[in-house]
Amino acid sequence: MIVDRPLVRSFSLTWIAAAAEHVHAGGHAVVWRSKKRAILVVRRPAPGDMLDLGRWAVLDLGLTRWRVPKGGPLAGLAVIAVPEDSADIVQSWIERDSAHPGVRRSLSLDCLTCAACCVRNEVVLERRDVQRLKRRGLEHLARDSWARRHTDGRIILRLTKGGRCRHLARDKKCRIYEARPAACSEFPPGSECCLFAREEELGVVD
Ligand code: SF4
Ligand code: SF4
Repeated sequence: MIVDRPLVRSFSLTWIAAAAEHVHAGGHAVVWRSKKRAILVVRRPAPGDMLDLGRWAVLDLGLTRWRVPKGGPLAGLAVIAVPEDSADIVQSWIERDSAHPGVRRSLSLDCLTCAACCVRNEVVLERRDVQRLKRRGLEHLARDSWARRHTDGRIILRLTKGGRCRHLARDKKCRIYEARPAACSEFPPGSECCLFAREEELGVVD
């Protein structure tokens, strides 16, 4: 599949208007306040749009929220304070994307030969996932050796000792593809989390 994704560019505070322009044009911007303090600027994700790549850039930083300034050069955009211990993460995005000109790039990805996101993950089963499994007569996959209940109540798919999802076949296909959890079906190829998984598991820098 061909994925169209934003390029991440670096800006100093002096160039914040140029950062806003880059984001309005479809890119992602990191604006540095100091060597370690930065903000990530993306287009405001539409409510409920789980495929939005800006949302996934935020999630890759371990965050779930953003603020939307009402005025100034970043008005209407989503602004996230990058935690100081994540400065090297956004720096790595900038370095990776520096090889590509422009605001966005097309990327060819083949999930059927990848499966990097099916390893060393934490897939939480939501109520709708459990109901889907029930409808297909697969309710046992929400318990026993397939899933565990965390102390906080969440139901999480179990991994093998090697860290692979137990539903991942040797040929990298998902054995429960039609009934797979929303966390899997809503995971967008080309997101920061996807590219991170590919680098971690496959050693591929896209
Ligand atoms: S890591 Fe990305 S490319 Fe690989 S299977 Fe997951 S979504 Fe597809
Ligand atoms: S359920 Fe399927 S898609 Fe989801 S992590 Fe496991 S193997 Fe991958």
